[in-house]
Amino acid sequence: MAKQNYDVVIGLEVHAQLRTESKLFCGCSTQFRPDQPNTQTCPVCLGLPGALPVMNREALRLAMMTGLALNCTIAEETRWDRKQYYYPDLPKAYQISQYDQPFSSGGWLDVGGEGADCSAVRRIRINRVHLEEDAGKNIHDETGGNADSRVDLNRTGTPLMEIVSEPDLRSAPESRQYLEKLRSLLLFLGVSDCNMQEGSLRCDANVNLHLHGDDGQTTATPIVELKNMNSFRNVELAIDYEVRRQYQVWQKTGHVLGDLPKQTRGWDADRGVTFGQREKEDSSDYRYFPDPDLQLVVTSDAEIDELRVALPETAESRRTRYETQLGLSEYDIGVILDQGPEFAEFFEQVQKACNDAKTAANWMTQDILRDLRTRGEAIEDFCLNSATLGYLLAQVTGGRITTKSARDVYSELLDQTAGASILPAMVEQIISDRNLEVVRDDAALDAAIAAAFAAMPAAVDDFRGGKKNALGPLIGMVMKQVAGADPREVRDRLAAAAES
Ligand SMILES: [Zn+2]
Repeated sequence: MAKQNYDVVIGLEVHAQLRTESKLFCGCSTQFRPDQPNTQTCPVCLGLPGALPVMNREALRLAMMTGLALNCTIAEETRWDRKQYYYPDLPKAYQISQYDQPFSSGGWLDVGGEGADCSAVRRIRINRVHLEEDAGKNIHDETGGNADSRVDLNRTGTPLMEIVSEPDLRSAPESRQYLEKLRSLLLFLGVSDCNMQEGSLRCDANVNLHLHGDDGQTTATPIVELKNMNSFRNVELAIDYEVRRQYQVWQKTGHVLGDLPKQTRGWDADRGVTFGQREKEDSSDYRYFPDPDLQLVVTSDAEIDELRVALPETAESRRTRYETQLGLSEYDIGVILDQGPEFAEFFEQVQKACNDAKTAANWMTQDILRDLRTRGEAIEDFCLNSATLGYLLAQVTGGRITTKSARDVYSELLDQTAGASILPAMVEQIISDRNLEVVRDDAALDAAIAAAFAAMPAAVDDFRGGKKNALGPLIGMVMKQVAGADPREVRDRLAAAAES
């Protein structure tokens, strides 16, 4: 194809599990416990007759924060509706959702324009954000030739927020960018942990093509809803595949919108293809009606203003601060912000304590991140607190101990504790026990340097002749003479002495 004669049109529906202790309409825990199925249930979320739901106000508060951060209008009055369908993981045979009166609508999220390129910013409109309860999980075990199907209702009734974009996205990479932006927004608001492996963040994509004919007419291919994409990478791949597939089908059959009903297709990540699942229901198939067990929810202006004022700092604002005030590289900023607000907060505390952004960033993005991963821990559960790491690094930036010594202290701290919070006093203890403090005995250093020069005149000549690494053996000799000297200082002094 010489020139692309079509536009790709994509709208995304993102489901994010809200970070509440309890479910949306009952007091059951929302903890992810696949190892103990059906232990977090009660008559309300099991849908037993006579059990009445009561709305979790905290879920609405988190959802409204999201609506505000996405520039939506918050409705003064919002309503709960029943969405009827039958499926084994839905014990009531209806899902409590929001139909024509969602709590928020009409917002936007800007994508693109990273770095200095502001011209590339594109505004993606948000149609609505609404709240609903999650269904349970069907588990099919087909090992050993026996088909064994079970259902785990622990997840039933967990609060979900559905964020529906307008069909404003124009490519697979842009869709991924939108998702990354949205994930970061939700993480920094603290409303969802966005854990895709545990299903806290899920995405469906509506994709079709607008074809521009030679006659100036535009036609559209049927909209396909893509499902089962469990990572942002897979969303990108699935959309990419679907665009090519729709173009080929259109070339072969000439099918355009109106010829065919909306279709749902799944993504097979192993084969890298989408496959037809079912024809998409129309909303009228769900027979929505207002849930008679739940009241209208009224929100006051004062409540909304209070939430708006208290919105936490966004990742974008932190990015700008780290860049302009701390002078961090784009890479470091990206790694830090990608870990979420708790990690970023930890970094800022360490940075303040040691007064050196680069040193703090290096430790956070290398040592700390590595150890969190090997231990499978989140920063808020890490045994080393920010005050202790900040204190340790302040000893390095203050020239009291070397970076190498700091690494020794750090690994000893991690070795000797099992979960207890480590204090700056323990850092002091190790520095003194191991005698790690840098020796600042100028006379001893000068004498050792003179001795090294006398012992290795050839190396000194090589260095003067331009061989920078000729100083290596001299540094080693001086370090042996003056235990506890800072190798960087020894190198600088040797170089200065050789050049004078
Ligand atoms: Zn329950």
